[in-house]
Amino acid sequence: MTRVLGIIGGGQLGMMLTEAAKKMPEHISDVIVLDPTKNCPAAKVGAKQIVADFSDKQAIVELSLQTDIITYEIESGNADVLQSIKNTIPINPDPETLRIIQDKFLQKKFLRENNIPVTDFDLVASISDIEDKVTSFGYPVMLKLRRDAYDGRGNYLIKNHDQIKDGYDKFAGKPIMVEKNVNFIKEISVIAARNTKGEIATYPTVENIHEENILRMTIAPARISKHASEEAEQIAKKVMEVFHGAGVFGIEMFVTKDDRVLINEIAPRVHNSGHHTLQSSSTSQFEQHLRAILGINLGRTDLLHYTVMCNILGPKDQSGKYKSASIEQTDGVYLKWYQKDEVKPLRKMGHVNVIDIHDTHDIEGLISKAEEIQRSAKFTMEE
Ligand code: ATP
Ligand code: MG
Repeated sequence: MTRVLGIIGGGQLGMMLTEAAKKMPEHISDVIVLDPTKNCPAAKVGAKQIVADFSDKQAIVELSLQTDIITYEIESGNADVLQSIKNTIPINPDPETLRIIQDKFLQKKFLRENNIPVTDFDLVASISDIEDKVTSFGYPVMLKLRRDAYDGRGNYLIKNHDQIKDGYDKFAGKPIMVEKNVNFIKEISVIAARNTKGEIATYPTVENIHEENILRMTIAPARISKHASEEAEQIAKKVMEVFHGAGVFGIEMFVTKDDRVLINEIAPRVHNSGHHTLQSSSTSQFEQHLRAILGINLGRTDLLHYTVMCNILGPKDQSGKYKSASIEQTDGVYLKWYQKDEVKPLRKMGHVNVIDIHDTHDIEGLISKAEEIQRSAKFTMEE
């Protein structure tokens, strides 16, 4: 049986899902994405597109009428609308899972209730609430918007008493929470999958380097202890057991000085830190996600070669339509370009996977090569 796949969101993740779908014609006959940007990346690689906002009820219903199965590549879809149509079409991951994950407080509460390790946290609604939490957690505390945050824009680190009011004012009127600051030594993630039959698979733990709250580099495998790495995979498996619905999830975690692993947050979708799997694994995270939601046996997840993924971001001083982009490419370097029409400062324009083709296991060497490639990226703007 072949099915028409609907995806909410047609950015680079939707694009790579579409590319994976095109390689499975025996299962998927067509892909339709819903995205507000005309000619979005997924449309450029052959998906049909409904041009509409992610939360547009009518458009989501339209998508459901034109497709046989729905998934999403963004967290900001309208969980209520998806909930209301889930009796008419399979939607994975389950909209209820999306509803919990969309709200960082509900997400952490759910994890804590399921005995999955997270830092201390609580709801706050006033300056005196924050003061109370500072007394019990100690400085610094992380003030977070509960919903619709990305690239760290919904976070404010309160380091002293003066910053309590600043943080509170920054998010004025919006639902917020506080978290005890985690004194981490590494940020890591595990890409995990669960198919509709309940089969679970995890990819090896990777290390993530952020700058200015944006993921710059993913190092596979993570440079952490065997204990922490295994612990992270166990935690990821548990996450997949407690959340309903099938699909690939990106599970972001911290490793502390005393080698404990805590969850930072979960993305119920394919994840930037899983892009290395396009070359480092026999099953990419994108194919794995489709296998998971279609109820096909999951593919292998072992790391075939050490790999460093680095994002190619828009330069800080360039904005608008560009004529061309040049990126240094040598042996073992695989570029994926997202075909976005315009470059913007720090916008994710593409990524490269630097593969350890000779299996020398020289991670530092791969990192230097990736940094060099990042520095080499040049955009020529349209006149
Ligand atoms: P993204 O879109 O990049 O995933 P986000 O806006 O959803 O990010 P978070 O993932 O919650 O935000 O936080 C961004 C970064 O802030 C984390 O990667 C981590 O470096 C830091 N951070 C978040 N929470 C804490 C915490 N409780 N203690 C210490 N650092 C934290
Ligand atoms: Mg995050």
